[in-house]
Amino acid sequence: MDIAIIGGGIGGLTAALTLHQLGISCTVYEAARELRPSGTGINLQPYCVRELYRLGLEDRIREIGISARGLAYYTRLGQHVLTERLGSEAGFDWPQFHMHRGAFHMMLADQVNRRLGPGALKLGHRCVGVEQDGNGVTVRLVDRETGKTAGPVSADVLIAADGVHSTVRAHFYPDEKPPHWNRVIMWRGVTGDTRMLDGRTMIVMGTFRQKFVAYQIRKPPAERAAGENDIMLNWLCELIVPEDVEFRPEDWNRAGSAEDFAQEFRDWVFPWIDVPDIVSRTAGIWEYPQVDRDPLPQWTFGTVALLGDAAHPLTPIGSNGASLAIVDARILGRELAANPSDPQAALKAYEADRRPAMEKVLGGNRAGGPEHFMPLVEARAPDGFDDIRDVLSEEELRIASNYRALTGLTTELVNGCRSLIPPEHFVN
Ligand SMILES: Cc1cc2nc3c(=O)[nH]c(=O)nc-3n(C[C@H](O)[C@H](O)[C@H](O)COP(=O)(O)OP(=O)(O)OC[C@H]3O[C@@H](n4cnc5c(N)ncnc54)[C@H](O)[C@@H]3O)c2cc1C
Repeated sequence: MDIAIIGGGIGGLTAALTLHQLGISCTVYEAARELRPSGTGINLQPYCVRELYRLGLEDRIREIGISARGLAYYTRLGQHVLTERLGSEAGFDWPQFHMHRGAFHMMLADQVNRRLGPGALKLGHRCVGVEQDGNGVTVRLVDRETGKTAGPVSADVLIAADGVHSTVRAHFYPDEKPPHWNRVIMWRGVTGDTRMLDGRTMIVMGTFRQKFVAYQIRKPPAERAAGENDIMLNWLCELIVPEDVEFRPEDWNRAGSAEDFAQEFRDWVFPWIDVPDIVSRTAGIWEYPQVDRDPLPQWTFGTVALLGDAAHPLTPIGSNGASLAIVDARILGRELAANPSDPQAALKAYEADRRPAMEKVLGGNRAGGPEHFMPLVEARAPDGFDDIRDVLSEEELRIASNYRALTGLTTELVNGCRSLIPPEHFVN
């Protein structure tokens, strides 16, 4: 079986490493001409860390990541609401990691090149069309350097991991509307030489109307200098934008400006964090409108499957977009290994496992994700409180953990499974 993967992002590269582990041949076609360690921070949840360790990446992950201890929620007045324990601290057998997204992405690309060989990840190859017949799939590609046709390429199976603006998704859903924007804009940055709390706790301060989120990450290994403090603070400021304000289409890498938001956070100065200072010292600012797409009725079409953001782009609220794409890749690999003679049935089994689960997560994110108790606190205690139990009921205090359960993040589910793919399928 030969598989073409469209998109060399986190989902596509994990799919390639998984297929290689299973002895299934594949090639990744990535539109970007060069992969750069761009981006800010990302979280990897324990259920995906387990799978990355199963791919033999534990040392690499530990080199770039910081094992998370907790997630602390504060009001816009800086008052502590509650702290959730995370990863190993919460009893999971695998940690949750905070890390530089670009460092993680580059590490995956490096592993694909090393394990599959240099020809397996083809940069500068943009998919512009897909055709299917009884014998498999034909992918039309354009070489980004020359602008000329590269291909066509034939494969038995096509995995579309080409992100929120997926060309392959658009092929099957030509009338789909643009991504849905919830009118929240995020400005993101990374500030060096800044330590916050114990260095392993993430914070969420405020609500969807105005929010500050931060956690510590390490510089990518390639950028570290000997003896230098490589710990940085990954942060994001969010504001909701009035109905009458127009916004440009979403793009993770768009440059932003402090002028558009910093003034709104000028009073967010507390003994343990100084938001204006952090924003003023940042190395750069990226701007992103929070978008998602409506759930699809179908993710697989004969021998073509959508994966990751191409299948289920989510508003980035639960810190799990990359982790869920990695799980997609592992489940898809598991089904192909279990049923190599009938890839169409394998893809259907993948969809049956993942699509209903992701529809629930999408609904959970649209309802406010793990944080949707925070607007209740702001509305009921706008000037602060003495005891959070006077403000929130026991059930409301469990909102965050109930959301985690929706994504499969309970110790029973995670620790009860040692690998999504039975190790007897591993060839490499
Ligand atoms: C720069 C960046 C920063 C992000 N930061 C966060 C974050 O902080 N928190 C969070 O939860 N999520 C974040 N995300 C989203 C998160 O990384 C994704 O939810 C997750 O990684 C899913 O990955 P994916 O591989 O499905 O899609 P992506 O990571 O978007 O990868 C898609 C890949 O496909 C390529 N591609 C697109 N079209 C074509 C085509 N026609 N032909 C060939 N290749 C194509 C793209 O260049 C890209 O490399 C970020 C995404 C990006 C791109």
